[in-house]
Amino acid sequence: MCLAHGLRRAGVDVAVYERDRTRASGLHGYRVGIDPHGSRALKACLPPELYRTFVATCAKAPERFMFLDERLRPTLTLTLREPTDDVNDEKSVSRMTLRQVLFTGMEDVLHFDKTFVRYQHEPDGRVTAHFADGTSDTGDVLVGADGVHSPVRKQRLPHARLEDAGIIAVAAKVPTTPEALSLMPGGLFPGIGMVLAPRGMACILHSMEFPWTADGRPKSGIGGSDRELLAAWPGLLFDNTRDYLNWGFWASTDKYPADVMQRSGADLARLVTAMTPRWDPRLHRLFALTDASTCFPITIRTSVRVEPWPTDNVTLLGDAIHTMTPGQGVGANTALRDAHNLVRALTGGRPLLDAVRDYEREMIEYGFKAVEASKKQTGGDQLVHRPVVGRVALAAQRTFLRATDRIPALKRRFEAELYEVRG
Ligand SMILES: Cc1cc2nc3c(=O)[nH]c(=O)nc-3n(C[C@H](O)[C@H](O)[C@H](O)COP(=O)(O)OP(=O)(O)OC[C@H]3O[C@@H](n4cnc5c(N)ncnc54)[C@H](O)[C@@H]3O)c2cc1C
Repeated sequence: MCLAHGLRRAGVDVAVYERDRTRASGLHGYRVGIDPHGSRALKACLPPELYRTFVATCAKAPERFMFLDERLRPTLTLTLREPTDDVNDEKSVSRMTLRQVLFTGMEDVLHFDKTFVRYQHEPDGRVTAHFADGTSDTGDVLVGADGVHSPVRKQRLPHARLEDAGIIAVAAKVPTTPEALSLMPGGLFPGIGMVLAPRGMACILHSMEFPWTADGRPKSGIGGSDRELLAAWPGLLFDNTRDYLNWGFWASTDKYPADVMQRSGADLARLVTAMTPRWDPRLHRLFALTDASTCFPITIRTSVRVEPWPTDNVTLLGDAIHTMTPGQGVGANTALRDAHNLVRALTGGRPLLDAVRDYEREMIEYGFKAVEASKKQTGGDQLVHRPVVGRVALAAQRTFLRATDRIPALKRRFEAELYEVRG
C-alpha cells in the first residue's frame, strides 16, 4: 500500500490486489514498531494529510526501553530521546489501524477478495497476474508484496528458501484495565519491556494507548488538529482497535509440547504459564487476563540469502523476499523502505528494467543484512537456548546489561547502536 500510494502520487497507474475479503477482515497481529526508516518511507509516499493521520493514529509513543529479568527486576533502562520531528522517533502502531490508514483514499485502486495464483509474460513484454476467481490484470510491472509465503516469489525465484528459525512465539492482547496496568513494574509504561529469562525464554511487553475512547471518539485532551483529523478520518469506522497491553513470549521450539501449533486461546496462555514456573506471578496473572480470541502461536521463519538474479519486470518487496525473525523489529520497516526505494527507482526516469535492477541490487544488500542480524538476535541456535552454556550466556548478558545501566559511556554506546539500527 505504501508503494501504491507513492506511485500514484507520482502519476503512475496502479492496482492493488489483496486476498482479504474486505477492508476490515483478518487479524493482522497486534503492535508493530515503526522506526525512522519506516516513518521516512511513509512520509515520502503518503499524501501529507494521510501521513499526519498516520502519526495521529499511533498509540502513545514509548518513552523508555526496559530490560527486565523474569522476576520483573530491571537490568537496564534506556530513556528514549524526545522526538524532534514527526519522523525521527519510535512509533507504536496497531497493525489493523495502520492497514486502515494505508487503505484510505485508495478505494478506486484497491481490489479485495483477489487471491493471486500465478503470472505470465505477454508477447509485448507486459505481465499478467491471474487470480483464484478466474480474473486477471495486465501491467508493465508486477510487484509481489504478498508476505512470507509469497506465491509471486515461488514462481519468480523458485530456488529461494525459507528456514525455520527454531523459535515459536506466542502473542496476545490484554485489555487495558487498572488491574492489568498495576501488574507491570512502575515506570515501564508508556514504554517497552523486554524480559530475558533462563532457558532462552523471553517476553516483550507493550502498552497501546490510543487517542480515541472505547466508543471510537477522539479522547479529550488530545491536540486540536489531531482531533479534527481523527474525527474526519473514515478509517476509524472500520477499525475496532481499543487500548490494550500486548505480550509476546518466545522460546526455542524444543521447549514446547509437540502439539503447540494446534493450541490457541486460554489454553495456550496457560501453557506459557506452565512453561515459566519461576516467573513472577504478576506475569502469570497478565497471561491469565489475556483476551482468549487473540492468543496464537507463530512459527518464526527466516529467508535464506538469495544471490542476485537476472532482472525482469516481476519483482518483490518486504517479507516476500526477505522474511526475518522479529529480533530487531525491522521486518515491516524494511518492507516500507523497499516501497520507498522502488517508488524512487520506478519514477526516476530510468528505463524500466534498469530501475528495477537498481532497486533489487540495493534491496538485496540491506534486506539480507537485516535478515542475518535479526537471526543472530532471535534464532533457536543462539547459545542462550542451550542447557548448560545457556545459563552462562544469560549471566554474561545480564552482567553486560547491568554494567551498561551504570556506566554512562557504555550506555551512550548502546544507545548510539540502537538508534543506528533503527534509522
Ligand atoms: C511476532 C512478530 C512481531 C513483529 N514485530 C515487528 C516490529 O515491531 N517492527 C517491524 O518492523 N516488523 C515486525 N515484524 C515483522 C513484520 O510483521 C513483517 O516484516 C511485515 O508485516 C512484512 O510486511 P509485508 O507487507 O511484506 O507482508 P505482510 O504484512 O505479510 O502483508 C502481505 C499481504 O499480502 C496479502 N497476500 C498474501 N498472499 C496473497 C495472495 N496470494 N494474493 C493476494 N494477496 C495476498 C496478505 O493478505 C497481506 O495483506 C514482526 C513479526 C512478527 C512475527
